[in-house]
Amino acid sequence: MIRLPTTMSCVAFPRKMLMKNSMKNCSRFISSQTNYDIVIVGGGLVGATLACVLGKNSRLSDKSILLLEGSKKRDWKLPELYSNRVSSLNQATYNLLNEIGVWRHIQSSRYGTVKRMQIWEANSEAVINFKGDYSDENLAYIVENDLTLHSVYKELENSNVSVLNEASLQDLKLSKGTESHQLTLKDGSVFGAKLLVGCDGYSSQVRQKIGVHYVSHSYGQMGVVATLELEEQCDNTTAWQKFLPTGPLALLPLNDKFSSLVWTTTPQHAKKLLALTDQDFTDELNYHLYNSPKSNVIVEKSSRVFDQLLHALNCPSTKDSQLPPKIARCQERSRASFPLGFGHATNYVQKGVALVGDAAHRVHPLAGQGVNLGFGDISCLNGVLGEAVYAGSELGDLLYLKEYETERQRHNVPTMLAIDGLYRLYGTDFPPVVLLRSLGLQAVNALSPLKGLLKNHAAS
Ligand SMILES: Cc1cc2nc3c(=O)[nH]c(=O)nc-3n(C[C@H](O)[C@H](O)[C@H](O)COP(=O)(O)OP(=O)(O)OC[C@H]3O[C@@H](n4cnc5c(N)ncnc54)[C@H](O)[C@@H]3O)c2cc1C
Repeated sequence: MIRLPTTMSCVAFPRKMLMKNSMKNCSRFISSQTNYDIVIVGGGLVGATLACVLGKNSRLSDKSILLLEGSKKRDWKLPELYSNRVSSLNQATYNLLNEIGVWRHIQSSRYGTVKRMQIWEANSEAVINFKGDYSDENLAYIVENDLTLHSVYKELENSNVSVLNEASLQDLKLSKGTESHQLTLKDGSVFGAKLLVGCDGYSSQVRQKIGVHYVSHSYGQMGVVATLELEEQCDNTTAWQKFLPTGPLALLPLNDKFSSLVWTTTPQHAKKLLALTDQDFTDELNYHLYNSPKSNVIVEKSSRVFDQLLHALNCPSTKDSQLPPKIARCQERSRASFPLGFGHATNYVQKGVALVGDAAHRVHPLAGQGVNLGFGDISCLNGVLGEAVYAGSELGDLLYLKEYETERQRHNVPTMLAIDGLYRLYGTDFPPVVLLRSLGLQAVNALSPLKGLLKNHAAS
């Protein structure tokens, strides 16, 4: 099929305003150009990284790319204290950041490594352990979001991408034909885009304006985050997650003395946790980490018999479980909470438009997959756009964009459903369910191939 290149339409814009803005706000603004091949709305972790990846794709080297970010440009330097917002980045994300030169900036700053994970629950003794197949293999990397973002913006300076801050999308006129889409910003400036990419987070304006169906629900839960100092310096390379009846509590290693907390709980409990003194909060946290309500006798006995059987068969059993490190204190003013929800756009693309990251899908943080799914979208879209250009097609060609949608939904949907299912499975203390999930967890822990499958899926 031959697809002819299209010409761009010219859009009107208040030039004075744009020039003023470009002097004041933009990180890198090259001209008074208003028509771009690709406009990315949202310069968070996903949007900024997408801009950097596309800007470094040699097949797209003659394409003009603009990144619009609603917030102010921040001068950032690595603070002495760790930020409370961190992400667990999987191996595929590490590879992507490494390829585009971003990882070297993170590497020269600071990050935590996860070599082992232990997941257990309050209502039974069942445990699952994951570890790398080789002693030097990392399962994940714990990086402060601000550091990742700063590193991406630093690397963006080495690309041909134009970045405009304080540039909030206000209105969007979608083109039905070959002309560009027309984007109007809050300050009245107007830009044209052959391909528009919405990376504007879970409340995405782009998604709302293109009118795709979005399935969503709130978990009615908050994620309480904090930076924690451990009682003792140790080889802190294990990520710990304990499922409490109110929600999962996770400790992510930052270095040998500090870990980051993500504690999912009810809004009322979250409010109480935030109101406690640092010392009372630490005591409450240690209590929940180390104590469990008395479990049901049948669950306890069945789980013990099953464990003895696994042990007799030389399979990993709960005896391999370890205790998490004791927390000495919570870093001052490091506590905060965030609402948690699920969301999925039934379509990620339309002609000349694509949704990427949280704009397309939002998951519970219990599996540390949210932004990793977004980074997976980036790799896929980058490949598809490169192919489209190589074949002489338009950037916004729906045939190519559909490839992106299909490939990513094949990965994202099962992952999202599994995370949502896990959340529900652990959201009850009804004894038959507790028994089934305890035996299931012990069985998965004992079966290396199944465990390997889970590990590989989470890493991709
Ligand atoms: C407590 C918690 C812990 C988490 N832990 C992990 C983890 O360990 N691992 C993991 O993979 N994920 C984790 N996540 C999920 C992860 O934080 C999100 O998936 C990720 O931040 C989404 O990035 P994004 O760039 O798609 O969206 P966002 O981070 O929401 O960025 C959107 C950007 O778009 C901009 N914007 C919005 N509207 C406009 C507009 N109209 N015009 C211009 N710009 C606009 C915003 O200013 C923002 O910069 C966690 C989430 C929470 C809440």
